[in-house]
Amino acid sequence: MKIAFIGLGNMGGGMAANLVKAGHKVHAFDLSNDALASARDAGCETFTSVREAVEGAEAVVSMLPNGAIVKDVYTSDVIGHAPHSATLIDCSTIDVATAREVAAAAHAEGYKMVDAPVSGGIAAANGGTLTFMVGGERHAFDTAETVLSAMGKAVIHAGDVGNGQAAKICNNMLLAIHMIGTAEAFAMAEKLGLDAQTFYDISSVSSGQNWSMTSYCPVPGVGPQSPSDNDYQGGFATALMLKDLKLAMEAAGTAGANTPLGKHAQEIYEAFAQENGALDFSGIIKTL
Ligand code: NAD
Repeated sequence: MKIAFIGLGNMGGGMAANLVKAGHKVHAFDLSNDALASARDAGCETFTSVREAVEGAEAVVSMLPNGAIVKDVYTSDVIGHAPHSATLIDCSTIDVATAREVAAAAHAEGYKMVDAPVSGGIAAANGGTLTFMVGGERHAFDTAETVLSAMGKAVIHAGDVGNGQAAKICNNMLLAIHMIGTAEAFAMAEKLGLDAQTFYDISSVSSGQNWSMTSYCPVPGVGPQSPSDNDYQGGFATALMLKDLKLAMEAAGTAGANTPLGKHAQEIYEAFAQENGALDFSGIIKTL
């Protein structure tokens, strides 16, 4: 398939390379020359504008920083410039309202469009093991799935357009809450004289068990290998977790959802991010 790929950063670079490995012809564009050079090394053909990259494309994939940029790229340079038969797939993490607005503009011009944000970080993008949560009509999902399956281990239909973003922010709000809760419990156990490994052995088979504890433990040396074992380097940056929490709180406000713990998690990560934005989000245990 001929696929245009817009946004070749930390995530998009590896994703575009995996499309090439799967045998697709990838027409790539990014504002950064370094990103374009890496994409060429990975076998992509690069272009000097979005409009040129999307010419003749059967699908357009984007992996961009935020909703304002996604809206600008699609409304200025993709819609009306890519063939109307192309399936448009935005994998960026953006707000639900913008995802729906951009898809409506695409639908009005006869395009199929899905929002397909990902779970998994840079390693999963490079390794082709991302999880995609996809919002859009069934026929748009079916086409998008053939493209996304070359970059991920799971492609899940979340319902109508915007629901991929809804799934992403609800999931990450829950992740933030249980990471803080897990860190709080380990910190309190230590203060009460309970060894971290012993607490892990008990809680990981008791009702406190959760992913932050058993797959991504914030205490070094406890549980499987995780960023805590590398002084909280790598993994999922606190700044990105904060971005997702802000999107979640924005969506909660619009939808009238009552999310007191999500709000508190945002405040806690906001304070932590001031000096530790690049650290993995499990580093929150340092403050407890
Ligand atoms: P990044 O900043 O590394 O990459 C974004 C790329 O977009 C950059 O190369 C930039 O030059 C390019 N860009 C910006 N404006 C552009 C434009 N108008 N036209 C073309 N290219 C443009 O960011 P990233 O870490 O790759 O994240 C991308 C998206 O993936 C974000 O929405 C982020 O929230 C989401 N995400 C990231 C991670 C992660 O671990 N990094 C995990 C899950 C989801």
